[in-house]
Amino acid sequence: MSDKNELPPKMRFKAQKAPPKPKPRPQDPIEQEFWNRCQDGHLYFQRCSDCGTLRHLPRYMCAKCGSPEFSWERSTGKGTLFSWTITHQALHPAFAADIPFVAAVVELEEGVRMATRLIDCDHDSLRLDLPVELTFETIGDDFRLPVFRPCEE
Ligand SMILES: [Zn+2]
Repeated sequence: MSDKNELPPKMRFKAQKAPPKPKPRPQDPIEQEFWNRCQDGHLYFQRCSDCGTLRHLPRYMCAKCGSPEFSWERSTGKGTLFSWTITHQALHPAFAADIPFVAAVVELEEGVRMATRLIDCDHDSLRLDLPVELTFETIGDDFRLPVFRPCEE
């Protein structure tokens, strides 16, 4: 088949409009608060009011001491690359234009590890402990998703 119009409709990939990227769907008010706080361009984590341990993912009780008390603390947004993989297949059509992309775990200066994406990077230069900094990807009209990119050491 040389003419792409001879392909069945679902195989005419280029002719299809990609759906919007899915946004996080918070399961409870604390998770909703985490995402709301991202919308001002900063990242916040819960800090236990009793033992000082940071919490991520957002949760109601401290994993170390069980305390329900906490406050929100702004992250520096600086960290290092803890782990990564380069994704070559889009498991959702909204990400097809992004492949290959870097799915990463970043360890922030505060010690919190966070699953995220690494953008604006040369895939061949990735290494453990690569310095990275927070930035945001806009999803849809205005939703800000925290992602990271390499920065100067
Ligand atoms: Zn605690």
